[in-house]
Amino acid sequence: MEFTDVNDDLTEILITEEQIRSRLAELCREIERDYAGKDVLLIGVLKGAVMVMADLARELKLPITMDWMAVSSYGSGTASSGVVRILKDLDTDLSGKTVLIVEDIIDSGLTLSWLLANLRSRGPESIEICTLLRKPEAARVDIDVKYVGFEIPNQFVVGYGLDYAEKYRNLRGVGILAPAVYS
Ligand code: 5GP
Repeated sequence: MEFTDVNDDLTEILITEEQIRSRLAELCREIERDYAGKDVLLIGVLKGAVMVMADLARELKLPITMDWMAVSSYGSGTASSGVVRILKDLDTDLSGKTVLIVEDIIDSGLTLSWLLANLRSRGPESIEICTLLRKPEAARVDIDVKYVGFEIPNQFVVGYGLDYAEKYRNLRGVGILAPAVYS
């Protein structure tokens, strides 16, 4: 789906497909350096991280495995509840594993900080985070995020995996959703 199909629903195109591709390539070179000689388990958080996981995994020149978790935090609205529930757990035992969490976006950070504590308790050797997007102004908890694609303003964005009410995930870039769509 191109931006032109949903132009009226967006106030701005924030990040293009090309910008995402080149930034992910840069991040992959860093990850390859940091994890040289390791087998890395990428953990994607459904459903938003599907696109970034697919592109990151194919760009990485490292032996990797992938697993997925689904947690609920937002429902179909746009405000964080802070309440997290596991909808789908990992298939992998994390003990001794080198883990890299792959996220689409960190907003308040509440979901991720809960997830980190949960995954750390399973005994991985190491655990780091890679996120495509981060909203620094929205942070409510301090999380050490090793790989950040883009820092963005505190607005609700869609595209490249990110939805509003399950729509817009298939946009190839990231855009700001017009408030009229969700208000
Ligand atoms: P947090 O707990 O960090 O506030 O929110 C984490 C989750 O909220 C993200 O994984 C994502 O699903 C959703 N979220 C936060 N900000 C946005 C946004 O701007 N757009 C969309 N589509 N989802 C968001």
